Amino acid sequence: MKCPHCLTAFHEVWSSHHLGPDADGLWSVGSTACPTCKKLVVTLTEHYTSGQYKQTLLVHPKGISRSPLPREVPEKFALDFKEACLVLSDSEKASAALSRRCLQMLLRERAGVKPTNLDNEIQQILDSKQLPSHVAESIDAVRVVGNFAAHPIKSQSTGSIIDVEPGEAEWLLDVVESLFDFYFVHPAKIAAKRQALNNKLKEAGKPVLKAG
Ligand SMILES: [Zn+2]
Repeated sequence: MKCPHCLTAFHEVWSSHHLGPDADGLWSVGSTACPTCKKLVVTLTEHYTSGQYKQTLLVHPKGISRSPLPREVPEKFALDFKEACLVLSDSEKASAALSRRCLQMLLRERAGVKPTNLDNEIQQILDSKQLPSHVAESIDAVRVVGNFAAHPIKSQSTGSIIDVEPGEAEWLLDVVESLFDFYFVHPAKIAAKRQALNNKLKEAGKPVLKAG
């Protein structure tokens, strides 16, 4: 997992403590310590009385720390993403719905997919081979992690607030973040480098590079 305090990835060892059943279900608290920042991560997990997993809430820290969003990301995309980060600890469902909506908007407006449903739109971008393979694999897995086969509403109506699978909400945030990097941050870095090189070429009286 990624430490919600310092964002460093580590192989976590959870210790959990059962709080017992109540009228709603079965409760347990889990904790793990991050070896990098030495801080505890504490979660509260609820199962239905049948034993089926219901939800896990991040209790400490309250919210997941994410590196500040680069300013190259346009406001219309950044807003949904920021809100999805903000509500993650209180509602994975709401966070996942915001992320799915943001993902779909990115695919339609930046990747140029034909609007249908999210499942098909993901397939279109994979078929177009415009993404680097690691980003393509992550976006492909959105359908598996979210179990789209069992929950077609996630594909048909992306902003719907419906049950999420364990880890789904966080996975979606990671995918949206990597698409931001691919569509906005990386091109801006390349453009800045090209500009710097062109300034040098101009000074030297040589022909400049044309925009790619
Ligand atoms: Zn940490």
